[in-house]
Amino acid sequence: AKSAGGNAIRLHTPQMDQRVSQRVSLENRLRQALQEDRLSLHFQAKVAAGDGRLVGAEALLRWQDGETMIPPDQFIPVAEECGLIVPIGEWVIARAVSQIAEWRHRYPQVPPIAINLSPRQFWRPSLAQGMLDALAAADLPTSALEVEITESVVLDPEGDGIEQLNRLRAAGIGIALDDFGTGYSSLSYLQRLPISVLKIDRSFIRPLAADRSDGDSEPLVRAIIAMAHSLSLQVVAEGVETPQQLQTLQALNCDILQGYLLSRPLPPGQFAEKFLVDR
Ligand code: C2E
Ligand code: CA
Ligand code: CA
Ligand code: CA
Repeated sequence: AKSAGGNAIRLHTPQMDQRVSQRVSLENRLRQALQEDRLSLHFQAKVAAGDGRLVGAEALLRWQDGETMIPPDQFIPVAEECGLIVPIGEWVIARAVSQIAEWRHRYPQVPPIAINLSPRQFWRPSLAQGMLDALAAADLPTSALEVEITESVVLDPEGDGIEQLNRLRAAGIGIALDDFGTGYSSLSYLQRLPISVLKIDRSFIRPLAADRSDGDSEPLVRAIIAMAHSLSLQVVAEGVETPQQLQTLQALNCDILQGYLLSRPLPPGQFAEKFLVDR
């Protein structure tokens, strides 16, 4: 009993040291990757549920660290904690804008491209203006770019998220509320946030039209779509993986589909080849 008590109050353990040093090393390697331009964006198609035509794409960050590809779920939380997400986010904006400009020179129709914004980027009061300046400098209309945010933007007391989002929206940039239905979502955010699109989280799409042992999400998805439409929001279903999910979402009047069934996220060249050439 005595030794168990001793363990319980031991705040510093070798495992903690290891975790801290792993994190510091990840942080340093990430900082270096950013400096050496070893991050990249992949693009995942968004298609109209009705006729399958390309209506948008989401830019997703990739980090090739030597032979290994480190997935964003592993490094974005670290980047958010140490503040690196700010310069990384700026890199994403610049990269996306120059990619869109390049595509628009080459291809007749390039749909809006969405980037993900982390709440911490809104700590910087110049975020919105910086995005508008970048678009203007590349001679692009604001409709060329969209942003995806989560409701945590509003929960973050350090930022002026809503004001900057209002600014972007007023300028014509589409705003999607990502991962809807997870986290602490309160319906009031739908009214407070100047959004134009609602993305239903993958966790609600997965059980759709599945064997239903883990609970059928269809009533919820139906309700979310109806609610979004009554607020004049477009609805994107993320993580569409099966033809059954696709059919159900079509029947439920979902507007836009995204997921491996339609396409994986692709490097820019492959994305353009598959979706932008001679349609
Ligand atoms: P997210 O914004 O929810 O992005 C969707 C994630 O779902 C992506 O993971 C995408 O590859 C994955 N996905 C798409 N279709 C399917 C599918 O059919 N099945 C499954 N299982 N997954 C699918 P990814 O690329 O690993 O990104 C993970 C998260 O990292 C993103 O989630 C986003 O929160 C964050 N992230 C990615 N790029 C950026 C960025 O440039 N900036 C910021 N702040 N966050 C980013
Ligand atoms: Ca997203
Ligand atoms: Ca999402
Ligand atoms: Ca997510």
